[in-house]
Amino acid sequence: MACVEFDYVVVGAGAAGCVVAGRLAAAPGRPSVLLVEYGGPGRNPLLRVPKGFYYTLRGDRYLYRYLTGPVAPGGAPEVWLRGRVAGGSAAVNGMMWLRGAPADWDGLAARGNPGWSWADVRPAYQAIERHSLGPGGGRGAGGPLGISVAATGDPVTSAILEAAAGYGWELAEDVNASDTERIGYTPSTIAGGRRTTSYDAFVRPALDRAGRDGGRLTVATRTRAVALTFDGRHVTGVRTVDGRGAVRDLVARREVILSAGTVETPLLLERSGIGQPELLRKHGIELRAEAPQLGERVIEQRGAALQVALKPGVAAASSLSTRTGQVAEAVRWLASGRGLLATGGYDLVCQFKSAPQADRPDVQGLFVPMAMDTGSKEMRLARHPGILFMAYPLRPQTASSVHVSGAGPDDPPVIDARFLETEGDRAAIAPVLGVARAVLGREPLAGLVGAEEFPGLAVAPGPDTVRYALATGTGIYHAVGSAAMGPADDDVTDPRLRVRGVTGLRVADASVLPGQLSGNTAAPAMLVGYRAADLILAELLRVLLVLVNAGGPGAPPPDQPARELDDPADEQRAAEGGREPHDRLVFERLAAEPPGQEGVGGPDDGGQRDRDREPLP
Ligand SMILES: Cc1cc2nc3c(=O)[nH]c(=O)nc-3n(C[C@H](O)[C@H](O)[C@H](O)COP(=O)(O)OP(=O)(O)OC[C@H]3O[C@@H](n4cnc5c(N)ncnc54)[C@H](O)[C@@H]3O)c2cc1C
Repeated sequence: MACVEFDYVVVGAGAAGCVVAGRLAAAPGRPSVLLVEYGGPGRNPLLRVPKGFYYTLRGDRYLYRYLTGPVAPGGAPEVWLRGRVAGGSAAVNGMMWLRGAPADWDGLAARGNPGWSWADVRPAYQAIERHSLGPGGGRGAGGPLGISVAATGDPVTSAILEAAAGYGWELAEDVNASDTERIGYTPSTIAGGRRTTSYDAFVRPALDRAGRDGGRLTVATRTRAVALTFDGRHVTGVRTVDGRGAVRDLVARREVILSAGTVETPLLLERSGIGQPELLRKHGIELRAEAPQLGERVIEQRGAALQVALKPGVAAASSLSTRTGQVAEAVRWLASGRGLLATGGYDLVCQFKSAPQADRPDVQGLFVPMAMDTGSKEMRLARHPGILFMAYPLRPQTASSVHVSGAGPDDPPVIDARFLETEGDRAAIAPVLGVARAVLGREPLAGLVGAEEFPGLAVAPGPDTVRYALATGTGIYHAVGSAAMGPADDDVTDPRLRVRGVTGLRVADASVLPGQLSGNTAAPAMLVGYRAADLILAELLRVLLVLVNAGGPGAPPPDQPARELDDPADEQRAAEGGREPHDRLVFERLAAEPPGQEGVGGPDDGGQRDRDREPLP
């Protein structure tokens, strides 16, 4: 079995992992960083087309499709999607960029998580964003991640906005800039008419720099982390299997950072012996560290959808509903990067109160000026123009859970998907269809709207809507919380994102968020990645200061247990000292691949060759 060493090993090139890896690799001293990604490098041009979202979600080439247990008592299982490609879920998601409300970030800090208040995270967001609206409203304008607000100005979306304003919502140029009842074009991770991800913003530049400034980032795509490796309770690295079945133990001299997402991160921890003792025993997994809350307290949002047809003759903005319209828009996008294909998955976003007495919005709604094909189980567009509306409670409290069903990496997760079990969650979703109908019924929109295609007027606001949401609604693919941070001994991670009970291991992805932050989760996940890098680098600085003061290398971080001070491995590392070889080259040699910086497991040309070469997944 081959074994290679890096300073940091990051598992998962998703929304958060790319930010952690890219920032660590750019840090002073240029630590060597390995970013391990199960999916491919994702070079298919369709992943770049913003409205290609509806296409790439159909297959499973870039996706995990997890089957949950029955959703409501006696209900049906549903599928939870996640991205499995460089960029992670953010490479296949709806591109909505919602930063979360300041009040919710402050709430996270108030739960005993210093460093996570709005005042703490806002500068990080500003450092991430390169916003088309420029600075102001809390936005950043000089960061690496392109964000834009695409105002198509087509007649249907314009009519929705006008009707919504008549209904009483503020028309917001930037919906992230306030916490009122408001509607606006959706801020999206789109730049120059193309989808952007944290892979583009943080990893590609680090790869480009490698060799020029001594940066040492390696990206191993089509490589799956199957377990953590240990020395006692210290995590020494990860065991991986690549696309050809080669097994490697990758050593992390400093830390392993798990960024595999809310579903995969707890599975990897459990398979590695961290979790609930009883559950691990049941699956024959040796216990390394107890984590009673791991995989529990998973908070997902639940949506209810409504669709109307547009009246005959109102074809504007619906040209994606016809084959000729799709071709015309494709040509336009290729020529100019503009048009309907250049807009995000969900064109308009609104936030509103489920009851007038609420102190701030507790529901998010989305309007798309297109109809979905109700006869298809896949995300297919209908051949007629329409408007799709979907809404979900912003801060649900009902908890789901995610656990392993066995010790092996291919054993599927057991997802107990639970929704709308609290009075507050039900009260928040109960009125949403009524709100949608009220907006759709206002001029100038009412003049364009034809029949309601689903769910139909028989589903009234109130308990009917709750039942409808449970029976036919969907999870929004926003689950957080399976490795939630917190101050208590049984919280899986501490506020510095270190996994309790072991050393050398952090989690940096959506799973550390103990609740929803009034929006979506890609922006918060990237923020977690950014802050994780801050925390890691601050600790590295402290270590370096200790080393300088102690007069040499080898002293462990000040907050590691005393046992570590006597660790022979540390002495060995100290004795070696000096600069490490260029790990990227070492790794690539071991992978017996032609030279190249990314896609160590094999190139992705988005075509047949790629499929032929890709035994995993
Ligand atoms: C269809 C869909 C639509 C969405 N729409 C939006 C939206 O419009 N706006 C929004 O804000 N959010 C949206 N989300 C949610 C958002 O994209 C995610 O919450 C966010 O990307 C989570 O980031 P993460 O870093 O935690 O995990 P991810 O981005 O999911 O990244 C995890 C990565 O880890 C890799 N990985 C997992 N296990 C392993 C392993 N064992 N070894 C190696 N690699 C591994 C995965 O392949 C993946 O690339 C959507 C999600 C989906 C699926």
